[in-house]
Amino acid sequence: MTQGLRDAYVDLVLGGSCLGCGAAGRMLCDRCAEALPRLGRDMRPTPCPPGLARTVACTAYDGLAKAMVIGLKERRQLALADPLGDLLARSVRVLADPGPPVLLVPVPSRPTSVRARGLDSTRTITARAARRLRAEGYDVAVAPLLRTRPGLRDQAGLSAAARAANLAGSLTCPSPRLRRVARRRTGAVVVVCDDVLTTGATAREAQRALAQVGVEVAGIATVAATVRRSLPAGGRFALPSHHIAN
Ligand SMILES: [Zn+2]
Repeated sequence: MTQGLRDAYVDLVLGGSCLGCGAAGRMLCDRCAEALPRLGRDMRPTPCPPGLARTVACTAYDGLAKAMVIGLKERRQLALADPLGDLLARSVRVLADPGPPVLLVPVPSRPTSVRARGLDSTRTITARAARRLRAEGYDVAVAPLLRTRPGLRDQAGLSAAARAANLAGSLTCPSPRLRRVARRRTGAVVVVCDDVLTTGATAREAQRALAQVGVEVAGIATVAATVRRSLPAGGRFALPSHHIAN
């Protein structure tokens, strides 16, 4: 069956269409997939939490990338896991070279969200990214070292200050077994993985929890970063200079 016919079939059976252009068929057509950035780039939240490790995102959190993240997370559109994993892998590549062992630590979702959604989307994307990197010769493993503290609220809709308060002490590397895993991989390049970089508070908290058990983080890799549009005196929308690194 040709790709076109396959897309038509998928559309007929599942009523699917591309999230980018609306073409009938797969959730992400070849043309839209190819238009996504090929390489992650340094992006910093503003304001940036003090001490935050290097942060890399593949693209801005809007348009197609946003639709893909929400599609997997909120609608369980599992066909998006691979393309999202590819985007995350592009960010990891900026932080780690093939050669030394690389440990990807996904930021955990709250257990209640995982139960409600039947899916830990960040962990899923991280696993797909690892598979992609392994195929490229990386010595890479996924290590879900972090757990959330009960009572953590959903971050969506909270202000930066409220997020920071909500998150303080929210992540831990609790079990002796997990700590052993963390120690055994000493010397590995440790990269924290998340879907979206917003205020950087979650990433900073993950970094703090890992530091507490002696694991130093090389950087934070994400699929996408929210880009704050500032309105300068001239009245024209502009991106802060650090968001247009490439
Ligand atoms: Zn498309």
